[in-house]
Amino acid sequence: MTADDRRDATGRQRGAARAQGRTQRSSSAPSRRRKGSDAARTAAYDVLRAVAGTDSYANLVLPPLLRERRLDARNAAFATELAYGTLRLQGRYDAIITLAAARPTDKIDPPVLDVLRLGAHQLLGMRVPAHAAVSETVGLAREQLGTGASQFVNAVLRAIGREPLDVWEERITEGVDELEALAAVQSHPVWVVRALREALVGHGRSAGELEELLVADNVAPHVTVVARPGLADADEVLADATGSSRGTLTPTAVVLAGGDPAALTSVRDGRSGVQDEGSQLVALALTAVPLEGRDERWLDLCAGPGGKAALLAAVAGERGARIVANELQPHRTQLVEQALRAVPADAVEDVRTGDGRRVGADEPSSFDRVMVDAPCTGLGALRRRPEARWRRSPADLPVLGALQRELLLSALHAVRPGGIVAYVTCSPHLVETQLVVKDGLRAAAREGLSIEVLDAQAVVRSIASGEVDLPAGRLDVQLWPHVHGTDAMHLTLLRRRS
Ligand code: SAM
Repeated sequence: MTADDRRDATGRQRGAARAQGRTQRSSSAPSRRRKGSDAARTAAYDVLRAVAGTDSYANLVLPPLLRERRLDARNAAFATELAYGTLRLQGRYDAIITLAAARPTDKIDPPVLDVLRLGAHQLLGMRVPAHAAVSETVGLAREQLGTGASQFVNAVLRAIGREPLDVWEERITEGVDELEALAAVQSHPVWVVRALREALVGHGRSAGELEELLVADNVAPHVTVVARPGLADADEVLADATGSSRGTLTPTAVVLAGGDPAALTSVRDGRSGVQDEGSQLVALALTAVPLEGRDERWLDLCAGPGGKAALLAAVAGERGARIVANELQPHRTQLVEQALRAVPADAVEDVRTGDGRRVGADEPSSFDRVMVDAPCTGLGALRRRPEARWRRSPADLPVLGALQRELLLSALHAVRPGGIVAYVTCSPHLVETQLVVKDGLRAAAREGLSIEVLDAQAVVRSIASGEVDLPAGRLDVQLWPHVHGTDAMHLTLLRRRS
């Protein structure tokens, strides 16, 4: 360690302005491995870099990294909160960093910016004492990026640490309109905030709920487990998972208090699995619609990674029906097979790789119930995927929309007259939900199909274990994190008449 480094680490050296936020290689010896909370900060930094550099998903990168580096439970929890919290609140912190560094974030080298974001989260979003947040983060900058960058980080973090969060929130919202202010404070892209406001209103709720929704997106959800009917029951999961409680919407759901779900016997052997309660509810809704005539062949058109397919197959097994699980991506088909491993073989007709858009033409009028859990922006699951909101753009909508329309139309051809189609997205965006259904119905009519929109609200109420807050005057179901505690899943139920 050089004398300059030492001065950096204790924060005594100034002159960060000179550093200009440009990265330099570290002069510190590679043998000086960081330990304890330092190791946690390094792990969080590596996750942010992987997410930025390789488009990785934080929730796939972090767990193996924690295992590989053997962080103890306390440091692993710290690294997790630091990485996920920083990614979620990145928009808020970037607005603050812009002011504190007196330059826009696109003028700061990305690795330096990631270190600043980590420091900002410790200072403003975690209960880390300010001196530790600054000195440890400056140490991280010096080790990863060099002395010059660490000086810049030191100056910016000290500026951030001079004011509490509420003062920064006032400063970052000065002179901007209400929507932009919400976007900055609640850390969502402006276009997402606008789309969520339109979705709330379009789905029969109030625009006044917008802030509550954005706040809910910033809170990591408890892990929910589905006890797959006929394979496990909720009581078994409750008994196995200390502190767990029943879900409030579905009889199959158990909310874990914490810990690793893979430690549960029933999760390990596939009789239960991790699944948002909203996902459970919409899958069960498809199975709950009364059907006249044959009820033997069910199709999951977009099945990967298999959460809904496993729940559908478990119910199918109880009723003597069989499921075909279709998925476009071969590696995701493998995940479906894995998810179905505990389901009795006679409840699974086929798990296959194929383009769902072709099924309607290749196998017309073949299935009694069809699930279309369409690929979507995932704007309803932002609390679950910390970086997702920064990855999506409005340009995704037309591409996904075209695919969603084709998949829905294919499903309407694949289902037999009298059969049921569930159109599901984990996005409340009106373009992915109501508009796709409207266009799908028009296209179906053009192709000679007669389709009836069913009262999905009544179906959901008939299976829910408790009250479900749904707006009057609509047939479809839109769930919300701030209302139902679920992902913002959308469900439209359709019956093909002829
Ligand atoms: N139902 C799944 C579950 O509960 O685990 C989630 C489905 S995910 C929202 C959408 C899936 O559709 C992705 O696995 C994606 O690979 C798949 N997909 C995309 N295009 C498809 C297509 N043309 N045909 C079939 N599946 C497709």
